[in-house]
Amino acid sequence: MSIEVDVAIIGAGIVGLAIAAEVAQPGKGTCVIEKNHTFGLETSSRNSEVIHAGIYYPEDSLKARFCVEGNRLVYQLCEQYGVAHKRLGKIIVAVNEEEFKELEELYQQGGKNGVEDLRFLSRKELKELEPNVEGTAGILSPSSGVVDSHSLMRIFYGQARERRVDFIFNTEVMGIEKVGKRYRVEIKDREGISSFITGVLINCAGLNSDKIARLAGIDVDRSGYRLHYCKGEYFSLSSRLRQLVGGRLIYPIPELAGTGIHITSSFDGRMRLGPNAIYVAQIDHKVDEAHKVAFYQAVKRYLPPLELEDLEPDFAGIRPKLRGPGEDFRDFVIAREDEKGLPGLINLIGIESPGLTAAPAIARYVASMVRELRY
Ligand SMILES: Cc1cc2nc3c(=O)[nH]c(=O)nc-3n(C[C@H](O)[C@H](O)[C@H](O)COP(=O)(O)OP(=O)(O)OC[C@H]3O[C@@H](n4cnc5c(N)ncnc54)[C@H](O)[C@@H]3O)c2cc1C
Repeated sequence: MSIEVDVAIIGAGIVGLAIAAEVAQPGKGTCVIEKNHTFGLETSSRNSEVIHAGIYYPEDSLKARFCVEGNRLVYQLCEQYGVAHKRLGKIIVAVNEEEFKELEELYQQGGKNGVEDLRFLSRKELKELEPNVEGTAGILSPSSGVVDSHSLMRIFYGQARERRVDFIFNTEVMGIEKVGKRYRVEIKDREGISSFITGVLINCAGLNSDKIARLAGIDVDRSGYRLHYCKGEYFSLSSRLRQLVGGRLIYPIPELAGTGIHITSSFDGRMRLGPNAIYVAQIDHKVDEAHKVAFYQAVKRYLPPLELEDLEPDFAGIRPKLRGPGEDFRDFVIAREDEKGLPGLINLIGIESPGLTAAPAIARYVASMVRELRY
């Protein structure tokens, strides 16, 4: 790797990969620094792999905007490059009067966000589509689906490689220093500590993105950049359930910190329940079997034939949340840091769900920011 590059991206999750593919330009040296031995080993491979439609988020938020745009782009990419995916459709179910009101609000919200294909389902219509699902009403989202996220990442990785992006694996960013109009980035690999210079530095470090911002000299508390880890566990479902649910994704009314424990079918037909939402101090991907009963009770409300024996611990992922416990909605942070005296630094912080769906739209947005910079 040369000692000087034009654009450096920290993190090879789906967001860093999509950005690398989008910002690479002939004649500009671009690299991606990743601490693991390959791409996509963290949050990007520990999620529901749902292509969201964009229903849940406040109007005009980045989450809403990039989810709606990303939904369309992800399907396009999947069709163009043969990435495994299924447009399964999703139903959000209300089980009582109180939830019915929330369902109506969600339906309105989806419309405001530009999700044009939503259908409100009466109890009878819900029963016709999903006879084993119990609810007073539902919303059908036909454009929700699932994608093989690793294959999607491989497409971005391949595009970036074709556009001559250098991937530097097994290398961790340890320090950032502003030197004139550029940045000296200190890195650690098997050989020890070294550094390189870049004009543009894009922070896509997922669960570490607040730490990277701090390395650049930003006060994460004053800026509202401090991340809270919020664990989401999954339990796999016995194949018996495949006969009981018509292949659609079935979601409850969302909770404060997540979309609620839902039923997902992966692109290869496996079914699971999850994720729950538990704020944690450490990154630890173990699934606590003691949570099985809570999963069972949460889903039994809308899927009465479910039995406790149908559930087996599966895997967990950690959400990089800006919203702390009990706090209000927080949007993605995707910021040029000129006003903090750090022109050329772009921070992406709190890229939790729908980050997988939104990645190609985020990449376009960041690429347009980069084009405005002089480097
Ligand atoms: C339980 C759960 C369920 C979810 N479900 C969905 C869903 O169904 N649909 C959806 O759209 N989204 C979903 N998401 C969100 C989605 O998974 C994330 O938004 C997305 O994967 C974030 O990608 P990323 O590239 O920002 O982060 P990551 O995948 O975490 O990548 C960051 C990379 O940065 C690297 N890195 C960190 N620090 C350093 C350093 N100092 N030096 C070098 N490299 C570093 C890491 O090793 C990592 O590879 C879910 C998330 C969770 C946790």
